[in-house]
Amino acid sequence: MLPQTAITRPLLVILCLVGNITLTAGQLNCVCMKSLCSENLTCSGDWCFVSKHWQDGEMIHKKGCLKEETELCRGSITKNYGMKCCQGNMCNLDLSIQLTGENLPEEGPSLKNLLLMILVPLFAILILIILVGLFVWKLALRRRRHMTFGPNELGDVDFMLKTSLVGDSTLEVLLNDDCTTGSGSGLPFLVQRTVARQITLVECVGKGRYGEVWRGTWHGENVAVKIFSSRDEQSWFRETEIYNTVLLRHDNILGFIASDMTSRNSSTQLWLITHYHEHGSLYDYLQCTVLDAETCLRLATSIICGLVHLHVEIFGTQGKPAIAHRDLKSRNILVKNNKQCCIADLGLAVMHSQSSDYLDIGNNPRVGTKRYMAPEVLDEQIRMDCFESFKRTDIWAFGLVLWEIARRTVVNGIIEDYKPPFFDLVPVDPSFEDMKKVVCIDQQTPTIPNRMFSDPTLSALAKIMKECWFQSPPARLTALRIKKTLKKLSNSFHKPKHSPNFWDQRSDF
Ligand code: ADP
Ligand code: MG
Repeated sequence: MLPQTAITRPLLVILCLVGNITLTAGQLNCVCMKSLCSENLTCSGDWCFVSKHWQDGEMIHKKGCLKEETELCRGSITKNYGMKCCQGNMCNLDLSIQLTGENLPEEGPSLKNLLLMILVPLFAILILIILVGLFVWKLALRRRRHMTFGPNELGDVDFMLKTSLVGDSTLEVLLNDDCTTGSGSGLPFLVQRTVARQITLVECVGKGRYGEVWRGTWHGENVAVKIFSSRDEQSWFRETEIYNTVLLRHDNILGFIASDMTSRNSSTQLWLITHYHEHGSLYDYLQCTVLDAETCLRLATSIICGLVHLHVEIFGTQGKPAIAHRDLKSRNILVKNNKQCCIADLGLAVMHSQSSDYLDIGNNPRVGTKRYMAPEVLDEQIRMDCFESFKRTDIWAFGLVLWEIARRTVVNGIIEDYKPPFFDLVPVDPSFEDMKKVVCIDQQTPTIPNRMFSDPTLSALAKIMKECWFQSPPARLTALRIKKTLKKLSNSFHKPKHSPNFWDQRSDF
């Protein structure tokens, strides 16, 4: 059958026009198709016709020419056969026949097509429903698992997949691997969750104001797990946010591994997983350790290096915003095995970007530790819209930490017991008002023992302390200034035998 497609139709029209010009009188050009004409699409005659009939279950269409009008031209159209004739040049081009009982228009879709048109969308909708059902079922299953399994027992498909990724890696490899760290600011969330749920809690090593810290193990390596109480969830959110958005890998900032939130017995459990330091906090360490001047300087220098890294804004792709800690104290500083410190607990930190002039204070209702609060915080005169103000309160607190360290340093065989700052002026758990009276009204600062002035290192440290404690915040030293002074002091010591690389370890130390 020759279909009257978009290609054949214009051709026939052209032939028709040509026919009009060249035909002699009485001769017509007609459309000719099927077996009637072998190659030509037209034929000549006195009549044109179209016919249609069933043959062996197939509908046969014909078009062609007649010498004269036949009986069939005038015959009626039945359900099996029909023929129409016409006289006019190419008049059978658009002539069509509809057999009796043939409901559908000749060019309309066949029954087969119609069935396809109905069945295909139906089938697609069915598949969609099945897929959505499967998804909802999986979601419900996962939620039920979260509710019933503890953090170490979870056996989710995702975990299996990610476990293979985490696989045999050590933490060091995992944290330094470009494939797993991505941006470099932290592990991807799924990897964090996988690591978190593979941890076994071993012993509780500390109880803070807002939660507990546990030693745990992951693939045989020690990790610290801080479990936040639900009333301090904002600290968890803040610390997680900062560690995951900012490149904070530094020797003197507590190394972040993962954050995880789980549902257990219908309550939310918030975990922060970090490197574990067996000496615990500087506060713990100072209770029972006697320092020499060199170790004292080493501890102090490492803390200020950490603080400088926090305070400074670094530009570029590997950059970071400036960060102020707002709760610096000896309990929030940890002592590493190499006698360097690292700063922990960023739950109250604020971030600032000079380039976009953006100050992110977070929305933690927690306030810093009263004993370490600077006078402008206690008398509520601090300018909350100015980032520099927060850095200056960190410096005040750093001065107090320096004082705590220096008291535990032997000079001429003399040493003081560990005491917290203002131990002689305020009660054990001082109120805001207690602190305000001592620090703002009486303008007291911790007493520096006289013996310190007989040692060049300690007297230099005493000078720094005093310059951290100016009532006027802008008058205080900056972290960078303190770091430079301590570095100079450090240079006066020989390289220690036990860890020869320490003083050369960081070019900016
Ligand atoms: P909080 O902010 O609730 O006071 P901290 O983070 O200060 O809690 O931790 C409480 C105590 O847990 C610390 O003083 C320290 O003794 C211990 N600790 C915290 N983090 C670690 C760690 N990474 N490694 C070892 N001990 C830690
Ligand atoms: Mg703390």
